[in-house]
Amino acid sequence: MKYIRDYQVIVVGAGAAGLTAALHLAPLRTLVINKVKNETGGSSPYAQGGIAAAVVEGDSPELHYQDTLIAGDGLCNREMVTILTEEAGHAINFLLDKKMPFDRDDKGSILYNREGSHSRARILRSQGDSTGAALMDTLKKGADEAEHITCLEGCMVWELHVRDKRTAGLFAWDDKDWIYFECDKIILAAGGAGQVFSNTTNPSESTGDTIALAGRAGVSLNMMEMIQFHPTALDGDKINGRIPLVTEAMRGAGALLIDETGRRIMEGVHHLRELAPRDLVARVIWNTINCGGRVFLDGSNIPDVEKHFPTVSASCRENGIDIRKDPIPVTPAAHYLMGGVLTDAKGRTNIEGLWCVGETAGTGLHGANRLASNSLLECLVFGIRTAGDVPKTSFKPIGDDKTVQPMVLSLSNSVMKSIRWELQELMFTGFGPIRTRAGMEDAELKLKFLEEKAYSSGRVSVSVLNRTNVRKILELENLLYVAREIARAALNNPMSRGAHFLIEEPKKRITA
Ligand SMILES: Cc1cc2nc3c(=O)[nH]c(=O)nc-3n(C[C@H](O)[C@H](O)[C@H](O)COP(=O)(O)OP(=O)(O)OC[C@H]3O[C@@H](n4cnc5c(N)ncnc54)[C@H](O)[C@@H]3O)c2cc1C
Repeated sequence: MKYIRDYQVIVVGAGAAGLTAALHLAPLRTLVINKVKNETGGSSPYAQGGIAAAVVEGDSPELHYQDTLIAGDGLCNREMVTILTEEAGHAINFLLDKKMPFDRDDKGSILYNREGSHSRARILRSQGDSTGAALMDTLKKGADEAEHITCLEGCMVWELHVRDKRTAGLFAWDDKDWIYFECDKIILAAGGAGQVFSNTTNPSESTGDTIALAGRAGVSLNMMEMIQFHPTALDGDKINGRIPLVTEAMRGAGALLIDETGRRIMEGVHHLRELAPRDLVARVIWNTINCGGRVFLDGSNIPDVEKHFPTVSASCRENGIDIRKDPIPVTPAAHYLMGGVLTDAKGRTNIEGLWCVGETAGTGLHGANRLASNSLLECLVFGIRTAGDVPKTSFKPIGDDKTVQPMVLSLSNSVMKSIRWELQELMFTGFGPIRTRAGMEDAELKLKFLEEKAYSSGRVSVSVLNRTNVRKILELENLLYVAREIARAALNNPMSRGAHFLIEEPKKRITA
């Protein structure tokens, strides 16, 4: 095992939240650890719709605040929403300073777009529907140029070490061996947990690692039952464990949701029709599909649709669909975790020296349903705030070399794969966009059997295992942990709200 104690602060994750925080940590010697090699990894580069910010004339943080509360179905943490909406301008200025290539009109003014449940056109985009990729290029370039930042790739953070209730360091697996990083200031920013579900827009590395790590270390979790299912993922082939997204911005631009007979499925359901809150649209699509029908998004009426949505167009083309004339087959898919590690407005957790930011954090900001394009903004606003809370003091390493290295579940490759697959299927069926008590209880029972299967052979040292399997086994344990927390929270919450929709108690949704 290697010991590293050269850094004053460690950031786990190189997505929008992790890199934003890292860029604001100067002059602290900062290490950014990323599980993925040669790319940023996580959901950030796949973001299509854009970044919401009420910064244009005729709009205001107040209006953005109201839209966020309505989408969140009354469960948003209002302090967090105030911060998000009021500090949006500062976050956008940070990106402008870093030369983020926002889409502009012929006169050079930034273009603002409309998305579902936003009362104003306030979505900033880049290269059409490639906002996430452009954002990550911008942040990555900044991190590469920053002298205080070192990036370590291909290294999976696994366990937090807490000594006397204070952060002391962490264990990570670099595909060859364990590394122990001794450090008293750690920011967790490893994204969401879409891979708990069989249908997801999240890439295969989104396995809730830092949620599981924090939970195991005794950090409180918050609102874990609140999973956002995006209504319109492409009903086609999976790539890197995820199904491609068909952005909500297409509906914002006028695309229609129809069934196989051409009927508009949102007509008469909500006054905003295709632009109704995501959870509601997802349920209507889920119901139509479960009754044996099919749902399509028809964007053929959008002028220059391919030019405006090049990412959607490319993934559709790979599935033999020409978005200029063909309706796109769509299905709901797990997209975003509103819950996560309980943190305050500065990213603090209940362990000293441990902060958390981005999708992995559960501030309560999004309530029961995230408003479109608010999560990249969250990564920026709360990334800046979290970094600002980290004391600029240096750490005197204790030199504790006696730390015992972690043991790993003893699983063969095939058993590990089959448990992951079964877990994803049961979670999508039992804890999907429409939940019933009987369905959740049945899924929870199956989850228990899977846990017994996974833990039945105990743990072994990594030297006993095929080292290429270790990372996947660690991910599986995290997935099981997060699934258990989702099930527990869902079964303990009898109140049907937003994404946690209980068929037995279909409370009327809060509407504008
Ligand atoms: C297809 C898609 C489209 C979206 N579109 C939008 C949009 O238009 N607007 C919007 O606001 N939001 C959008 N979202 C949501 C938004 O992209 C995410 O919520 C946000 O990017 C999360 O950023 P993050 O930095 O918290 O996590 P991520 O971007 O997921 O980054 C996590 C990082 O942690 C690393 N990591 C994971 N586990 C470990 C580990 N154990 N050890 C070390 N590193 C680890 C990953 O490799 C990655 O670098 C979209 C999401 C998806 C999936």
